[in-house]
Amino acid sequence: MRLAGPESRAIAEPMLRLKHPLDPGRAAFGELVDAESGHRIDEVVVTYFAKPHSYTTDDTVEISAHGAPVVLRHIVELAISRGARLAEPGEFTMRAFLNGRIDLTQAEAVRDLIESQTLFQAKAAAEQLDGALSKRLKPIKEKLVQLIATLEAGVDFAEDDVAVLPSAQILERIGEIRTPLRRLADSFAYGKVVHEGMTLAIVGPPNVGKSSVFNRLVERERAIVTAAPGTTRDLVTETMSLGGIPLRLIDTAGIRDSKDEAESIGIQKSYEALAEADLVLLVMEAASITGNDGRAKPFNGKHGDLTKALEQRKAILIANKIDLAPAGMSATRGARANAMTTIYTSAITGEGIERLKEEILAHLRGDGSAQQEIGFLTNVRQHGLVNLALRGLEAAELAVKTKIPHEMLLLDLYSGLRPLDGITGETTTDDVLNLVFSSFCIGK
Ligand code: GDP
Repeated sequence: MRLAGPESRAIAEPMLRLKHPLDPGRAAFGELVDAESGHRIDEVVVTYFAKPHSYTTDDTVEISAHGAPVVLRHIVELAISRGARLAEPGEFTMRAFLNGRIDLTQAEAVRDLIESQTLFQAKAAAEQLDGALSKRLKPIKEKLVQLIATLEAGVDFAEDDVAVLPSAQILERIGEIRTPLRRLADSFAYGKVVHEGMTLAIVGPPNVGKSSVFNRLVERERAIVTAAPGTTRDLVTETMSLGGIPLRLIDTAGIRDSKDEAESIGIQKSYEALAEADLVLLVMEAASITGNDGRAKPFNGKHGDLTKALEQRKAILIANKIDLAPAGMSATRGARANAMTTIYTSAITGEGIERLKEEILAHLRGDGSAQQEIGFLTNVRQHGLVNLALRGLEAAELAVKTKIPHEMLLLDLYSGLRPLDGITGETTTDDVLNLVFSSFCIGK
């Protein structure tokens, strides 16, 4: 139970019978007593943090009891009867933000850390909590502020012949701000994958080994698997972690022309899963997709609807049952068929499954540039603001090119700067704060 605020000691101390008086930064062992009757309620360890050296920067008292919910609730009730009030969701972190101890990206990182499902996600959140994103933003913002200052000076002293920057130099300096900002905006694709994971749909004709591949993929990574009951009768969904990225893997009903009503419904669901997946794993039998020249040909004119549905989708072709295929085809061969990366597997022997995982990971990581840089965008709020800033800078470039007066150009630059302030929370509205902190749980 955590109490924060100037009265926290005054509220807590009468409830406690301690071996030693409260000392900042130290834990004290003792008893929690009912102030009126003097009855002992529990043995507790109490930690006192004197302001400003606490989570919220307020005086803070933390009481650790044995954890039975009735006891904890009673401690909370005792504190409330002595003048404390219940914290709002995320209020402790919000106070830390409002008191200037952390910025908004760090507050968001606290939430991300709490919600982490994999260690990799936790690590990414810990980096942001350490200020990684703010540090990446800082030099970009500084350049923009400098440019604004230079131009402001030019405007202010226009009559005193202070040299205003030539247009070419202004454009160059805007470019130096835009390029890293664009890269930051692009990092959201990766940040989103790290944060939210990805959905993979396994599709293909009946009986090609979709379920077997699904099981192969899931079984080895059971460490964090949480079984999610399929939302429909026909789709089986499992969550697994690959390289620390959470994946939802959906096994679908085999796709073929069918007159059977129930099967048609299942096939319809397969198409829906295919359309919504971030990455499609198309399974075919290796023997069926190989032409006389030995090159993979996934469709041979069949499965027209499936071919159509796969257009514009990111997909990996899994040529399964390689153990049954004519000799000469091997799991080590990667052919390109229909511009799809092809991985040869046998779900029975396990051949090719590791390569399949590597290929999936390569897809998840994209071009690989984003994760090499520390501090990437992890949520829609940040992404929206970076895009707003970029729009301001683009407008500024246009203003320079069309020789619009610097007073107006400055307005565009300011509209590029304001969203950047919004990311770290230097300028925010109550709406934004509510949005960020309402998604926290109470006590954080
Ligand atoms: P699905 O209908 O596409 O989900 O296919 P299943 O996973 O249910 O597999 C259909 C049949 O093919 C089963 O009898 C599997 O044991 C078999 N099978 C799956 N993968 C392989 C493989 O790589 N090699 C061989 N020989 N049989 C396989």
